[in-house]
This record gives sequence, structure tokens and C-alpha cells, in this order.
Amino acid sequence: MATIDGLPPLREVIRAHDLVAKKQLGQNFLLDLNLTAKIARMAGDLAGCDVLEVGPGPGGLTRGLLAEGARRVLVVEKDPRCVPALEEIAATYPGRLEIVQGDALELDVASRLNAPIRVVSNLPYNVGTELLIRWLSPAVWPPFWTSLTLMFQKEVAERIVARPRSDHYGRLALLTQWRAEPKIVMHLPPEAFTPAPKVHSAVVHLTRLEAPRFPADAAVLSRVTAMAFNQRRKMLRSSLKGLGGDVEALLEGVGIVPTQRAEEIGLEQFCALARAVAAR
Ligand code: SAM
Repeated sequence: MATIDGLPPLREVIRAHDLVAKKQLGQNFLLDLNLTAKIARMAGDLAGCDVLEVGPGPGGLTRGLLAEGARRVLVVEKDPRCVPALEEIAATYPGRLEIVQGDALELDVASRLNAPIRVVSNLPYNVGTELLIRWLSPAVWPPFWTSLTLMFQKEVAERIVARPRSDHYGRLALLTQWRAEPKIVMHLPPEAFTPAPKVHSAVVHLTRLEAPRFPADAAVLSRVTAMAFNQRRKMLRSSLKGLGGDVEALLEGVGIVPTQRAEEIGLEQFCALARAVAAR
């Protein structure tokens, strides 16, 4: 059957390179090239952008990104078995695909790319959350990336976009929404992947803000929200006791009723609280 790029269908690639999925590497592959091209389009206009893709596997999403016109794609893949399959893609798109074999948690490859940079990845869920937190917490803001388009377990995607007073609201929502605009752009059932995982998935597209939405010191904001959500059902006057001093006066000073709970407090108020803590 003809494919978008004249390369063999992914099932053939997987057979030819004997890429039996490894559970410990979170290998649930997307084999439908129409679907991977659709995910690539969710990242926005790729022409004139460099793309970082972590965990390309046999290269379904990579092929989508290149077919959708990415200027250059840099892939980082931990599994050396995938490299020959990726080299075949590189040969079809001369000078546009660079392959790095290694662990994305150990390597810093951003300096090899030119702005504007979009990150697009379908990663194992634990690695994805860890990288998202790192990409949202660089020493200097704005970060190297313009947008992140990432596949997550549906429940994690809901935590990223959650609003106050909802079950999924917590630190991940606050950290993300402080510095970026996140949106769930696609839902995928388990059968979209081979092998099928147990859970549903969703693609989240995040656009960076040029400056954090409200002023606050990142470390103080992180400490205050950690303390508040550690005991999310407790009133803030008791969950924040560890801050020391007169916690009730501190809360009232920024317009928070001390009997409120963490899940009722929005980002703006948490930032105000972080500023008041930093000023003490
Ligand atoms: N992007 C491909 C797709 O959509 O079909 C593969 C997705 S699969 C869910 C995740 C990929 O990430 C696998 O190829 C796996 O080997 C790779 N991977 C897992 N941990 C990694 C890490 N720490 N660094 C880089 N790649 C990793």
C-alpha cells in the first residue's frame, strides 16, 4: 500500500527490523501514518521550525513531522534497535533528520536546534511527565521551545489543564498554567497503539507564555503549592503551618480565607501568596 512518503508501512518496518515492543521502554507504537500526520498538524505550522522529538521508536510520528514540512527534526531514542529504521527515514529526507541514540533524561540536545523550536513527542508516560516538568522549569524564562505537543495518559492530560475546584486540580496544573497555555487537542483510545496500553491517551498542546502569567519566585511558588496540596483536603491554615509565623494573617493578607482548601485557590492567589511568603 502507498504511504505518505513512499517508505514502507510501519508494520513492515517493525517486521524488517524485528522491533518487538519492549514494555520496560514503554513501547506502544502508533502505526497509522494518517494519525501521526494529524498529531504533527496539531503542533501548528512546522515550516520554518526545528522540531525536537523524544522517543521516535520506528518513526511513525517522525514521518508525520517531516511530511508536514518541519525544517529539521532531531530525534532522541533510547532503544538502539530503532536506529536503522530511523536512518532509512533520514535517507528519504536528506539533511532534515538528525538521530541521537540515548536517554533523553540524560542528554541536553536543545543547543543543536535553531529557534523557533517545537517539541512533539509520544513518550512513555513517566518520562513524559518528568520531561514536561523540566521543560517548564528552566533557570531562565522564556525557554528554548515555542510549543510542546505531547501525548499523555488521559488522566495526566486532565491534571495539566485542570481548573480550581475540580478533582484533577493540583501542582501540575499550577506549574503548567503559570508559564504556558495548555489545551487537550486530541483523545486516543488504547486501540490506536500497538500493542494497546491499558489506559486512554490524550495529546496536549502547550504554548509558552513570554513571561509567567503572574509574578512569583519559582522556588517559593513550588514550595507553597507542594505544602498546600500535600494535604489537599485540609484547610490552608493547617496545611501551611510549616511556613511558620502567623499563617492566618499571611493568608488573609492576600485575600485567602484561612479555612479554604488548596483545591479552591486559583493560580493568581497562589502567586500572591508566594510573593507574600518571599517578602517576609
Ligand atoms: N513515537 C513512537 C510512536 O509514536 O509510535 C514511539 C512511541 S513509544 C510510546 C515511546 C518511545 O520512547 C519508545 O520508542 C521508547 O524506546 C522511547 N523511550 C523510552 N524512554 C526513553 C528515554 N528515556 N529517552 C528516549 N527515548 C525513550
